[in-house]
Amino acid sequence: MNIRVGLGFDSHEFEEAKDLFLGGVKVEGYPGFRAHSDGDVILHALTDAILGALGEGDIGTLFPESDPRWKGASSDLFVKRAVEIMKERGYQLINADIVYVAEFPKIRELREKIRNRLEEITGFERTKFTIKGKRPEGLEVRGGALCIASVLIGSED
Ligand code: MG
Repeated sequence: MNIRVGLGFDSHEFEEAKDLFLGGVKVEGYPGFRAHSDGDVILHALTDAILGALGEGDIGTLFPESDPRWKGASSDLFVKRAVEIMKERGYQLINADIVYVAEFPKIRELREKIRNRLEEITGFERTKFTIKGKRPEGLEVRGGALCIASVLIGSED
């Protein structure tokens, strides 16, 4: 089995006027992210982790902000495209481990919803995804959020 690891990172500033999307889940009661798309840092980091594992560049190359097709886009599209490329190349997801770092919202309350959405978006079982939330202690990231995702993918040949 050919196994490859990928690491993805994303961060965005909060913006009051936007809806918050995290891991494909709309979360009520919090500001969203200032971004060209919906700014879903979890899905952006996951997309970059998959693309990194494949050696296929990054989210900004595949979905440039200059392209009006991605304005206000749901980030589901980015993950779906990365998964499509992964499958075209003969790889399956072994697992993904995701860390969300921000003052809010609490991931504990969203974890199962996000895992269900990740299963819907990627077609891979929810048990392949783990998501942790951390408060940014000692860091000045009050006005935004960041996410780090790692993936392991494998092919039979
Ligand atoms: Mg982003």
